Amino acid sequence: MAIKVKVIQTPKLGLLQRLYIPEIIRGLKTTLMHILRFNPVTVQYPEEVKELPPRYRGLHILPADDKGEIRCVACKLCEVACPTQAISIVAEPADDYGIERRPKVYNIDFMRCVFCGFCVEACPCDALRMGMKYELASYNRAGLIHTKEVFFDPNVKSRAPRDNANFLYEMGEGEILDEPEEVEKVKGLSGTYS
Ligand code: SF4
Ligand code: SF4
Repeated sequence: MAIKVKVIQTPKLGLLQRLYIPEIIRGLKTTLMHILRFNPVTVQYPEEVKELPPRYRGLHILPADDKGEIRCVACKLCEVACPTQAISIVAEPADDYGIERRPKVYNIDFMRCVFCGFCVEACPCDALRMGMKYELASYNRAGLIHTKEVFFDPNVKSRAPRDNANFLYEMGEGEILDEPEEVEKVKGLSGTYS
């Protein structure tokens, strides 16, 4: 198959453009117009918190089931799906939960994580979600490896059956929201998830 090549000529600069000064003045004029309009786009963080879109991919959350227990069944699909090998899981038997396995250790290394969300998409039982928190600063590297004790949030519940994935959710106020009006409510939320 022939490859089509489009040749783009470098635009020739006129005399005024080659002098640069008129272009600098044009740039300063644009800056001055912004100053005069005084329409700041900056946010005075942390006093002001930026409103985040409802599908923002922040720090991960391990939600709970209806009984307030961890939903994760330690299948390790998220670990396999992670392109940066940021997730490490150690499973243990969970007969007392009525499931085969649960995570004894569930760590995510945020020095590696790129917040792509592949792990959430890979999870077959809605046991992992991206939350709204983004404050990740730490004084040392160990502080950037979060454990399941940090991720597990019993206030975030999933109504999806454990063996029937429900990927169509919006998160807010600790519930899966599947009604349009609930989704609209989430869009009104601002700040970090808590
Ligand atoms: S968000 Fe992406 S990089 Fe981060 S743990 Fe999940 S799959 Fe890995
Ligand atoms: S979070 Fe989901 S994909 Fe990852 S181990 Fe738990 S159940 Fe499996």
